[in-house]
Amino acid sequence: MTLAINWQALAATIALDGRAFVNGQRVPAIDGAVFDCISPLNGKKIADVARCTKADVDAAVLNARAAFEDGRWAHLSPKKRKEIMIRFADLIQANANELAVMETLDMGKPVANALAVDVNAAQNTIRWYGEAIDKVYDEVAPTSRDSLAFITREPVGVVAAVVPWNYPLLMTSWKIAPALAMGNSVILKPSEKSPLTALRLAELALEAGIPAGVFNVLPGYGHEAGAALAEHMDVDCIAFTGSTAVGKRIMQAAASSNLKRAWMELGGKSANIVFADAPNLDEAAAAAAGNVFYNQGESCNAPSRLYVEASIADEFMAKVAAHVAAFKPANPLDAATSMGAIVDDVQMKSVLKYIQSGVDQGATLIAGGSQVLAETGGFFIEPTIFMAQQHMTIVQEEIFGPVLAAIPFDTEAQAIALANDSIYGLQAAVWTSNVSKAHRVARALRAGTVHVNQYNDDDITVPFGGYKQSGNGRDKSLHALDKYCELKTTWLKIDPA
Ligand code: NAP
Ligand code: MG
Repeated sequence: MTLAINWQALAATIALDGRAFVNGQRVPAIDGAVFDCISPLNGKKIADVARCTKADVDAAVLNARAAFEDGRWAHLSPKKRKEIMIRFADLIQANANELAVMETLDMGKPVANALAVDVNAAQNTIRWYGEAIDKVYDEVAPTSRDSLAFITREPVGVVAAVVPWNYPLLMTSWKIAPALAMGNSVILKPSEKSPLTALRLAELALEAGIPAGVFNVLPGYGHEAGAALAEHMDVDCIAFTGSTAVGKRIMQAAASSNLKRAWMELGGKSANIVFADAPNLDEAAAAAAGNVFYNQGESCNAPSRLYVEASIADEFMAKVAAHVAAFKPANPLDAATSMGAIVDDVQMKSVLKYIQSGVDQGATLIAGGSQVLAETGGFFIEPTIFMAQQHMTIVQEEIFGPVLAAIPFDTEAQAIALANDSIYGLQAAVWTSNVSKAHRVARALRAGTVHVNQYNDDDITVPFGGYKQSGNGRDKSLHALDKYCELKTTWLKIDPA
């Protein structure tokens, strides 16, 4: 039996250290600058965070380069690196409660989710790539008898990772685990809105045995620390998760500096198509609501465009609306809470502006629409559902908040056309009992992942990423290793006897 955890008490006692982590040590920014880390639970400051800038980036890159060149990590045996990565995962697990409460205080998600999903998936990601280290083989090419050509993977060198605030620990682990597994040195810049857990992670990595200088974390602003990493002449690869607008800027910086590899995991506006012959409309309705309102709607893959066959639209939308009750914003430190706070005041205002635009453009509000719990000083918005039209801003743009826009359709062809009418292509879903229709529609949808008759399935074993302006490359699965290595061909002449 596990004892109930008093999250509120843990939150009151936990140490929150916002200093950077460079070369195995906690350090302030070189110029001593800090910014306030504000908790979205109550709008109060919870820590000073180092405001790293170009000077800090330059120093961290020098260190990371030295750590890479001397082989303190890359030259360890695969077995040894595997053991250290697994110890790192074990330490995350051992510190799970602390990390969960830190994540909640910093970005507002319900602590039960932070623990069960974010922390758990982060340790699993690091464990899985650790396990892969001594199981992924190089290749020998099918050449003639008088030669041998082998194709080996080598680490690219210094990898920069820039991540967003919606799943801070998880996005960090999706970048650092495959990059470290390949033997690289890593410099991570967490979001200014949620820097704390990545910094703690770096301490745990060192404790696990990842040598100093190999995994560094520089908190700071995107236009300062983030841009300095993207522009740096001695960073070999930048792995980014965030908005499409910033992704474009990072690719430009990569191109105009040293042509570093630039991997982009960007925004989404995923389409969820429900046909009248869906096997179970109750399940479809629960998924349609649950996957948009989970994490306060701050999920890149949220199915925020719902296309419903017109013949069932009224019945189905009543079922979807009934699920709103299960997502009542409340104190994220209460283990029973299913919907927490929006990450900050800026994001809350942006979401409320989108809701207002829906109203102004003539969409019909069928649930929610307002800020709630303002008396807490925190940033909460109730789950919101609109009946909308394709041209509206709430259908075309990523809102990144708890807002669902539903549109009825008449034919399969129309549903596909509406779903694909987006600059994004991260995920999509189709609900039908007709196997051929499921395959036809899944093939026609331009998205990195298509779900059929469910939306929740996910695993570290499958790639995650998008078509179109949702990005390039893929996180997760063995495919992600390719982003963090060079392929070297070595030709060897074999003299005839
Ligand atoms: P964002 O504004 O693009 O920021 C992402 C990161 O980039 C932050 O660390 C940010 O720093 C930094 N940044 C900002 N400007 C920069 C610049 N000029 N150069 C370098 N770095 C810069 O995105 P967000 O609001 O944090 O996250 C939401 C977005 O992420 C959504 O579009 C969502 O769909 C996307 N996302 C995608 C995936 C995926 O796998 N495809 C997963 C999760 C989220 P600061 O915040 O510190 O300024
Ligand atoms: Mg924060």
